[in-house]
Amino acid sequence: DISGTDNKGFKGHDMLAPFTAGWQSTDVDPLIIEKSEGSHVYDMQGRKYLDTLAGLWCTALGGNEPRLVDAATKQLNTLPFYHSFWNRTTKPSLDLAKELLDMFTAKKMAKAFFTNSGSEANDTQVKLVWYYNNALGRPNKKKFIARAKAYHGSTLISASLTGLPALHQNFDLPAPFVLHTDCPHYWRYHLPGETEEEFSTRLAKNLEDLILKEGPETIAAFIAEPVMGAGGVIPPPATYFDKIQAVVKKYDILFIADEVICAFGRLGTMFGSDMYNIKPDLVSLAKALSSAYMPIGAVLVSPEVSDVIHSQSNKLGSFSHGFTYSGHPVACAVALEAIKIYKERNMVERVNTISPKFQEGLKEFSDSPIIGEIRGIGLILATEFANNKSPNDPFPPEWGVGAYFGAQCQKNGMLVRVAGDTIMMSPPFVVTPEELDELISIYGKALRETEKRVEE
Ligand code: PLP
Repeated sequence: DISGTDNKGFKGHDMLAPFTAGWQSTDVDPLIIEKSEGSHVYDMQGRKYLDTLAGLWCTALGGNEPRLVDAATKQLNTLPFYHSFWNRTTKPSLDLAKELLDMFTAKKMAKAFFTNSGSEANDTQVKLVWYYNNALGRPNKKKFIARAKAYHGSTLISASLTGLPALHQNFDLPAPFVLHTDCPHYWRYHLPGETEEEFSTRLAKNLEDLILKEGPETIAAFIAEPVMGAGGVIPPPATYFDKIQAVVKKYDILFIADEVICAFGRLGTMFGSDMYNIKPDLVSLAKALSSAYMPIGAVLVSPEVSDVIHSQSNKLGSFSHGFTYSGHPVACAVALEAIKIYKERNMVERVNTISPKFQEGLKEFSDSPIIGEIRGIGLILATEFANNKSPNDPFPPEWGVGAYFGAQCQKNGMLVRVAGDTIMMSPPFVVTPEELDELISIYGKALRETEKRVEE
């Protein structure tokens, strides 16, 4: 998740995000994290930081959940590895598949396929959709529509689906079968006088125009995060997904919900699809699936899609796709335990109880003259700095306003995600009210310092 990272304006040790694209810069000291505890992490010097992004939107149960460690240890001592190929598998993998299919209720799901990451989950989606359309005898229905500012991963195909220029430039991406439509960010993109409803109607119309221009017989699937994450935390207007789904359905286009960030309670519903009444044909999961204690991703497939794939697999040949570690028993055992904890501790309810303090506490700062918009839902939120409250009046990038704010947070013991002048947060579900007080207080301090710096 390195999208949108913009190091312009970072200088020397002020630099908050010394890595881009996973390459370690040699001219700045990295912040080396050594230990984690609840919502906090510690560096090599023992300095403590409130980790407001839960790692990379993923350590939902915080940094030291002993039950996850026990689940991993137990599995490692019983069966550290067996694969899930040729009709062989393991009990944790089967149990996790069953659990996920039971849990996802926005639309009935029939099959689960395991990967090691969200990127692999989205790559798998593309192959499933292609195979499905081959099975239906329509090999030309192959194109994907994603959205500007979406983040779907870093592999060649998932980076193609991603709608961030940084993930495309210098890589000859996106692949030619990927198209992008509008980002549903009302504040930034609405026309003068346009209501949220009218904005959503216009975006759905633009989507339909794109489909008609390309030919509906060529469009296979539409992919969307319920709330865009790495592209800047963008909750859509209330009726946006209703209107988009109507268009997609009209042209027999599959809907893929990329729930990698939104699933398991982050928005205040078990899945993002529940929040926005999305009825997807395919679902991608990762991150909080194991609370990030083990790398694992998953794809859920509706019966309509899986039936076609199964019924034709004798004719077409098997769906030849899978990874050595698909359904890794240790990762599955940890994910099963994480889900058990989410349920036992009513994590969705907890997010709903605690998130007003987070959302309202931070939105109190909306009046700051350097803040354009504070937006969020549940336990995910972004602050976007701008001049005159206007999306059309950004600060000069060389001022590094976002970077400066991030550095002030870090100095005061808090880590945030900086992408240009947008600051993102998604604390662990277990964040306490006291930790939220700490978060709001450090945010306020960093904001005052940043206001002073902008005035200078
Ligand atoms: N999809 C979404 C919505 C994500 O936020 C991410 C990662 O941030 C991915 C996919 C890619 O997941 P991974 O980094 O595990 O490959």
